[in-house]
Amino acid sequence: MQGQLFISLLNPGIGLLFATAFFLMWLNRRERYVAYAAGAYLATAFAFLIQDVAPVLPMELQRLPANAGFLATGMLFAAAIIERYHLPVPWRAMSIVAAVSLAIFIWFLLGDPDITARIYAISAGAGAIALMVVHALWPIAKPHLIDRLLFGVAALSAANLIIRPLVIFAFVGGFDSYVGFQQSIYWTTVQFTQAMVSIVAAISLMVAVAIDMIAELRREADDDQLSGLLNRRGFEGAAGAALRRSLDDDRPVALLIADLDHFKQVNDRHGHAMGDAIITAFGAHVRALGPGDMVAGRIGGEEFALLLPGTGIETARRLAEVIRIGFPTSCAETIPPSLVPTTSIGLAAGMAGEGLSQLMRRADQALYDAKRAGRNRVRAFRPEPVLPPAAAAG
Ligand code: GH3
Ligand code: MG
Ligand code: MG
Repeated sequence: MQGQLFISLLNPGIGLLFATAFFLMWLNRRERYVAYAAGAYLATAFAFLIQDVAPVLPMELQRLPANAGFLATGMLFAAAIIERYHLPVPWRAMSIVAAVSLAIFIWFLLGDPDITARIYAISAGAGAIALMVVHALWPIAKPHLIDRLLFGVAALSAANLIIRPLVIFAFVGGFDSYVGFQQSIYWTTVQFTQAMVSIVAAISLMVAVAIDMIAELRREADDDQLSGLLNRRGFEGAAGAALRRSLDDDRPVALLIADLDHFKQVNDRHGHAMGDAIITAFGAHVRALGPGDMVAGRIGGEEFALLLPGTGIETARRLAEVIRIGFPTSCAETIPPSLVPTTSIGLAAGMAGEGLSQLMRRADQALYDAKRAGRNRVRAFRPEPVLPPAAAAG
């Protein structure tokens, strides 16, 4: 009997432990799916406690809160996994399934008492809820192992909930009494497999939280807060990869480098905060005008780079002109009318076999030409003319 009690405490114990862990994670990271996971483990702990350890209502009636708790666990679990992918949580469909299976449960509790039918009503209801997760996750890409693992946990739970009762009833038959049920192989199997699925699901969800946190930190490390574009590090990583892809596919690719004109003067005359506001406005301006696959970053104080995959030099030049001409208007709301900020832009087309730093050097040369020619203009890189041998000699 003591062994039985120990097994009975297994699921509430695991539930409370993981509920606490997810709650602590949620305190650090206010993501809704983490809160759902904490709720799911709390619900499972209470359901198993009521079911096996501490009855709260008279013998028959106390089955009701316990099984409602099992269904709530299923719903919160499903919500946690679906919400992680920012997909719509099917609360309505889940509630209907839970209500129907509870209604069937109540009928076989009070109307026509039958333990076997009751078990199947709850188990199949929870299984249908797990199938909703499978259904929601089915069409989406699962690029990482963790995505396939979460999908697998949902599929495994569905199979466990729907098939297990059928198999065990077929082999062992149903139950006549409640005591027989609680001491049965069936209930021991439920407790054991539930504990296993619970642990695997919790670890998968915790790994998912860790992976999401790392991805967010990585994004933050690559972003520039002021301009809303990538920072130099982020730009070099993303632009290097995009450049290689374009050149490998024999597609045109162009790079623009923009440097705001006389920016030291802007700061000196209007203050550093005004300078910052102009940098922010320029970032928004570039994001609004650039194509979707553009890689754009602030690579220095008031210097920006845009890599344009699939764009030839003439299209790049037109985009550069649009950016240059529209720049003063784009920050008109943030600056005094006396201040007309301008930018110089240098551009270069990617050449087979070259890397990002070589391409940037050529665009930088074009930018230098634009500055030297008087600023507020666009220049494309022009290779040094190759002098004929006679001229070179003379
Ligand atoms: P040029 O037309 O030749 O580019 O002149 P410039 O004054 O813009 O060139 P320079 O590179 O000498 O000066 C850049 C200035 O940009 C220096 C610094 O005061 C300012 N700057 C750099 N980063 C920031 C920033 O994050 N915020 C603000 N407000 N100013 C910055
Ligand atoms: Mg400048
Ligand atoms: Mg500069």
